Amino acid sequence: MQTSTVNSRDTGDDDRPEQESLKAFFSAGKGLWGTVSDDQWNDWRWQLQHRLTSLAQLQTLLPTLTPEEQTGALLADQRLAMAITPYFFNLIDRQNPDCPIRRQVIPRIEETHSTSWEMIDPCGEEKHSPVPGLVHRYPDRVLFLVTDRCAAYCRYCTRSRLVSNASGYDFHPDFERQIDYIRRTPSVRDVLLSGGDPLLISDEKLAFLLSELRGIRHVEFLRIGSRIPIFLPQRITPALCALLKEFHPLFLSIHTNHPRELTSEARQALERLADAGIPLGNQSVLLKGVNDDPKVMHALVHKLLICRVKPYYLYQCDLIQGTAHLRTSVQQGLAIMESLRGHTSGYAIPQYVIDAPQGGGKIPLNPDYILSHSPDRIVMRNFENAIFEYPEVPKFRPTLSAAESSSPS
Ligand SMILES: *Cc1c(COP(=O)(O)O)cnc(C)c1O
Ligand code: SF4
Repeated sequence: MQTSTVNSRDTGDDDRPEQESLKAFFSAGKGLWGTVSDDQWNDWRWQLQHRLTSLAQLQTLLPTLTPEEQTGALLADQRLAMAITPYFFNLIDRQNPDCPIRRQVIPRIEETHSTSWEMIDPCGEEKHSPVPGLVHRYPDRVLFLVTDRCAAYCRYCTRSRLVSNASGYDFHPDFERQIDYIRRTPSVRDVLLSGGDPLLISDEKLAFLLSELRGIRHVEFLRIGSRIPIFLPQRITPALCALLKEFHPLFLSIHTNHPRELTSEARQALERLADAGIPLGNQSVLLKGVNDDPKVMHALVHKLLICRVKPYYLYQCDLIQGTAHLRTSVQQGLAIMESLRGHTSGYAIPQYVIDAPQGGGKIPLNPDYILSHSPDRIVMRNFENAIFEYPEVPKFRPTLSAAESSSPS
């Protein structure tokens, strides 16, 4: 489906052609939907209406569907629904059962397995909800759940207890109640709209919500977490960008895991958002067989910068039920972080975090660069493993009186 823009050179261990093809911005095109008109294809509502949601559709479109995926698709309606936009489906390498795009959106039988560590609400969000649909975990900011729907469903979704409503959670946001809590909680200076995907609601509803929030004196900063630029770039219309622009300062965090998700369509959508003055960040989840490889991660973060998106967080995969097959070790995550720091632009480097089980919150994880730290010195290593010392500044001990030390120089 996708043709490489580079000639493969047969030079043994030289992986440059692969790396260059990971870095190229291919168009998803209409692919399997060649007979659909451009107007329909570029219409986000058409994309939503034509999402793939059934095993029968997968069987027709994906000749290499495995027994594990067939059973997964059949059982998905009991846990987290399956839905894939035609646009995003075109990114799947249909000949490759291990395709990194495929692993993110096509259910597998392993989702029904669960280990003793896994939970339905791994980040303990329910116990930090003062009103339904609002998670107030940190002192000065809240997570505002706008909807339980997404353009497509990620098989490792940390909020799968409510997202897609397959398990009958029946989330009904009550904007008035959520806004009212924020209004009477002056410590909240930062509101993060999430879900589900906030950009799935209509422009009118979004404008209402954003203007209500902007009307609250103590709310300084608004942000939106959305995977729409990746699953449904058609939704990022000029009208939506013009609307968002009215509510600055407003940041947007996208969610991408593999460089192939950054197509020319996604790049154009991100450019429209950036041109509307919206600072863009990316959150990735470290996923086995998707991006747990330094080469893939380097290509991803570099492409993000080209799209004017700052890599923000790299999450260790939460302990959600049925995701063991997608989790990779913390050791591997640290190795990837180590492969970035010093080796590429600081702007390209996300913060690796674990959202600690049971509501511990995000905890940063870093490779150890400090070898020892005593009261008089710190011994460190750099990205090349060379060792350096820096004298610790002695604890401040006032020796002069205030009058003596304030003499003019
Ligand atoms: C991640 C998260 C936030 C935002 O955290 P930042 O580190 O400020 O991006 C806020 N509330 C909840 C509940 C979160 O999970
Ligand atoms: S887009 Fe976000 S909220 Fe929606 S399924 Fe994926 S991870 Fe979950």
